[in-house]
Amino acid sequence: MTANALSPEAARTYELDRRHVFHSWSAQSTVDPMVITRAEGCYVWDGAGNRLLDFSSQLVNTNLGHQHPRVVEAIAEQARRLATVAPQHANDQRGEAARLIAERTPGDLDRVFFTNGGADANEHAVRMARLSTGRPKVLTRYRSYHGGTQTAINLTGDPRRWANDSGTAGVVHFFGPYRYRSHFHAETEQQECERALEHLAQVIELEGPRTIAAVLLEAIPGTAGIMVPPPGYLAGVRELCDRHGIVLIMDEVMTGFGRTGAWFVSGDEGVVPDLLTFAKGVNSGYVPLGGVAISEHIAAHFAERPYPGGLTYSGHPLACAAAVASITAMEDEGVVGNARRIGAEVLGPELAKLAARHPSVGEVRGRGVFWAVELATAAADVMPDLVGTAKRLGLLPFTNANRIHVVPPCTITEAEARDGLALLDQVLDRADELV
Ligand code: PLP
Repeated sequence: MTANALSPEAARTYELDRRHVFHSWSAQSTVDPMVITRAEGCYVWDGAGNRLLDFSSQLVNTNLGHQHPRVVEAIAEQARRLATVAPQHANDQRGEAARLIAERTPGDLDRVFFTNGGADANEHAVRMARLSTGRPKVLTRYRSYHGGTQTAINLTGDPRRWANDSGTAGVVHFFGPYRYRSHFHAETEQQECERALEHLAQVIELEGPRTIAAVLLEAIPGTAGIMVPPPGYLAGVRELCDRHGIVLIMDEVMTGFGRTGAWFVSGDEGVVPDLLTFAKGVNSGYVPLGGVAISEHIAAHFAERPYPGGLTYSGHPLACAAAVASITAMEDEGVVGNARRIGAEVLGPELAKLAARHPSVGEVRGRGVFWAVELATAAADVMPDLVGTAKRLGLLPFTNANRIHVVPPCTITEAEARDGLALLDQVLDRADELV
C-alpha cells in the first residue's frame, strides 16, 4: 500500500511508523506496513477505508475475532479497578484465569506459570525441564517455530534460527513427520509415523538418553507449515519420553484455545505432556499473555526448592481479565465447536476442491480453522505478488515461505468462510499464472 491512497490521519500513522518503528524480522528499508485503523469480528479496515477479511487472525491469535465486547469491557473494567499488581501478590483474575486454563488442559497440568508471550513460555518450560531432570539437552524438530528470544530462537527449527544461533544452547534438532515432502520416503501416513518415531528413537539413543532433559514439540507445527502429525505420532513421542525419563513439552502457543476445533491438540489426541506452553488464543491477543501449564510431578520438584525465574508482568491483571473473558465467551458461544464444524464442513472440503482445480497448489492440510495451502513449487518468490493480489481483493492472508495459511478467527461464519475462499480462488488463479 502506498501512502497516497491513505487518509491524512492514516498517512501520518504510516510516516510515524516508517520514521520511528523498528520492525521484526525485516530489513528496515524494505518495510511497507499496512495501516489498520479499526477491526471488528473477522474484518479489519485499512488506512484507505478498505475492508479486508482477516484470514490471518493477525499472527494467528485473535481466536475470538476482533473487538469482542465482553473482552474489551473486561479489560476496561479491570483497568478501572486494579490496573497492575506484582506477581508475588494474589489477584482474583490471575487465579481465575489459571483455573480456567487448568480445567481445559489435559491430565494433571493444574498449575500455571504466566509469561508475557509464547517465546518466554518455552524458555521457562525448558528451564523447568532442565532443573527437574538435571539434564542439559533439548530435542526439537526441524521445521518448527518456538519464539524469537535467545533460547527460543535456538530451539526453533526453521531458518529464522540461523542468524541468531550461537550453537551453545544444548539443542539437537530431529525430523518430524511431513509426508508431502517426506524425509523418510514414506508412501503412507502409517509409514511416515513409524519411520519418524524410529528416527527420533535413534536420535535419543545416539545423543544419550540420560543427557536429554526434554523433547519440545509443537502439537501441530504452525508457522513452519501446519503439518498435522499422523495418527499415533504424538502418543509415540510420549511413549519414547516415558521410556527414557524425558520431559515432554507440548508447544500449543498457536494450536491452543480452539484453533484446531479443540481446546488443545494434546487433549484431543489423548496425550498428556509434562509441560504445555500457551499464549496467543488464551485471550485472543488483546493483551500480551502466555504461560506454562505444569504437571503435578514437575510442580512437586519446586515444592521445597525455589524456582529460579520470574517476570515483572507475570499474570498481569489486564491480561488475565482478558483471558477470563475470552475463555468464558468462547465457552458460552460454542466457539471451539464452531471452529471444528467450519473445518470439517467448509474449509476442509472446499480447500480440497481448490487444490484439485489449481495446478499451482501442491497440498492442502489442516484441521479446524488451521489450514495451509502449500504451493507445488518450493520457491517463495511469487508470494509478495500473491499477498498483494489478496489484499487488493479484500483478503488479508497469513503467508510463510511457499504457503498461504487459512487461519481466520474461530468465530468465522460459514458465509464469511465461503466469501474468503472465493477470494482465495482468485489469488490461486494468479498463482497458476506465476508458478
Ligand atoms: N511457539 C509457537 C508455536 C508460535 O507459533 C509462536 C509464535 O508465533 C511462539 C511460540 C512465540 O510466541 P510469541 O511471539 O508470543 O513469543
